[in-house]
Amino acid sequence: MSQYTGVAVSPGRVIGTIRSMAPPVAEPPVDETLPAGADPAAEAARIPAAAAAVQATLNRLAERASGEGRKILQATAQMAADPALSQTAHGFVVSGGKSPARAVWEAGDQVASMLEGLGGYMAERATDVRDVRARIVAELRGEQPPGIPETEEPFVLTAIDLAPADTATLDPSRVLALITSDGGPQSHTAILARQLGLPAIVAAKGIHQFPDGTEVFVDAGLGTITDEVTEEHHRFAEAWTELQNNPLTYEGGGGVLADGTRVQLLANIGSAADAEKAAAAHADGVGLFRTEFLFLDREDEPSIEEQTAAYAAAFAHFPGKKVVVRTIDAGADKPLPFLTDADEPNPALGVRAYRTSWEKPSVLSHQLDAIAAAAELSEARPWVMAPMIATAPETEDFVAQCRERGLEPAGIMVETPAAAITADRHLAACDFASIGTNDLTQYTMAADRQLGSLAHLNNPWQPAVLALVKATCEGARAAGGDPESFGESANKPVGVCGEAAGDPGLAVVLVGLGVNSLSMTPRSLPAVATVLSTVTLAQAKDLAAQAVAARTAEDASNAVRAGLPILGELGL
Ligand code: PEP
Ligand code: MG
Repeated sequence: MSQYTGVAVSPGRVIGTIRSMAPPVAEPPVDETLPAGADPAAEAARIPAAAAAVQATLNRLAERASGEGRKILQATAQMAADPALSQTAHGFVVSGGKSPARAVWEAGDQVASMLEGLGGYMAERATDVRDVRARIVAELRGEQPPGIPETEEPFVLTAIDLAPADTATLDPSRVLALITSDGGPQSHTAILARQLGLPAIVAAKGIHQFPDGTEVFVDAGLGTITDEVTEEHHRFAEAWTELQNNPLTYEGGGGVLADGTRVQLLANIGSAADAEKAAAAHADGVGLFRTEFLFLDREDEPSIEEQTAAYAAAFAHFPGKKVVVRTIDAGADKPLPFLTDADEPNPALGVRAYRTSWEKPSVLSHQLDAIAAAAELSEARPWVMAPMIATAPETEDFVAQCRERGLEPAGIMVETPAAAITADRHLAACDFASIGTNDLTQYTMAADRQLGSLAHLNNPWQPAVLALVKATCEGARAAGGDPESFGESANKPVGVCGEAAGDPGLAVVLVGLGVNSLSMTPRSLPAVATVLSTVTLAQAKDLAAQAVAARTAEDASNAVRAGLPILGELGL
């Protein structure tokens, strides 16, 4: 029996067969030529046949995929059918004596370089050419094509980590669960898995010891994978399937605790399209609007008019509701050419987020102008907050800028231990705080949130992180806040908008620590609401006290799981 443990990032319990992500196709040796006596014409003829086979496979996959994934697969299939690559490779075999695989490799390079030379849209297609080239080489060699396995049966996918292009083709109807040996809980892979509702575990060292074809039980609530599949595991997996067929529901109106206490449940969004989905999922409002998505991939700052239109489009989905707008969070993993310095040695500790306004105040002031203009155009109630605040004077400066424009309430994100520890002074100067547990965890534990090797540190269950959440709520109370008032009328409220808020067990802990509202990906709303409904505020406080006092993150999580049987029953 073998069992591996990683960091649980998206819950679910499944039984399935392991299929590992195929490694990148190795380059055929430069001097790989035709074997003695081989017929060059017959060898060259294998190339268009292999290209046609690749095209057929990609088209078959495209038919099964949907949305963006389908488009990517269709475009790649078309590329496989393009005669330029096959004809160039054909020439290398017939006149150059190269092996078909080597010929395709070199022809791919030639076509890709030519596209790169053209620049713009054509240059972006060079990557697709190299992908198609690798697939044809794999076909010629009889190897598994690179990327996500292409089997008819659904499977448990294992990988070192997923590239962005792979994530686009990740089809939850074929992939039962995703397990990576690298990647952190805040990596793109983890965030995507949560969005898709795909059970996922990251940083599961040793997972590649399971050969392809091994049947395993995956508990992505606990983060374990075992090849000893028991009767009980079958019951767990069946219960999870049943839950998928009859999903938990949430009709809005706050998460209601067993004693009737209401906790506002909000959504995290990045665009108007997300806002539409969040409204459809009955979110009580928006607890985090990540505005920087409008700015990413831009060479220049978008105009005030363009920003106003984008914010107003998102606000339109929440008339009469609270929408917490976070001002631009550039820097670190979200560099912006017009605002951040790409040469900083340590960008996560550099001039990011609110700090960028010191050197270039106009970007923030234009953004606040646009938010104020969008507020005028809409019936939503925008709350505005700044990310990456550390000192009280920073909060005072930001609040003054908001007040000048009539933007109220104005608040801050608590993402640095500094802000958490001095929360009383921050909340004396502003109207509300929202704890960004993703960054608060990385800065508390001094662990880069993108590094798989530090995933065990980068865990919001760490008692040190929970102690800072508690300190923030206590600071708010000292500044006149109502930590046990969960409605919107609470004075100086503290919310949580990091990924921790969408973890149902942690959600209970956060409420018990005095947090007034929780904001999460809309998909997590039903599970969080369901689990909250099983505890009273007194029980939540008791579990929170146990978690903060725990020796390790595992002890904290285990203590809470023991007190919340619903988590085990639902496989969360
Ligand atoms: C956070 O840090 O928890 C947060 C919500 O902000 P982001 O993930 O966008 O940095
Ligand atoms: Mg953050």
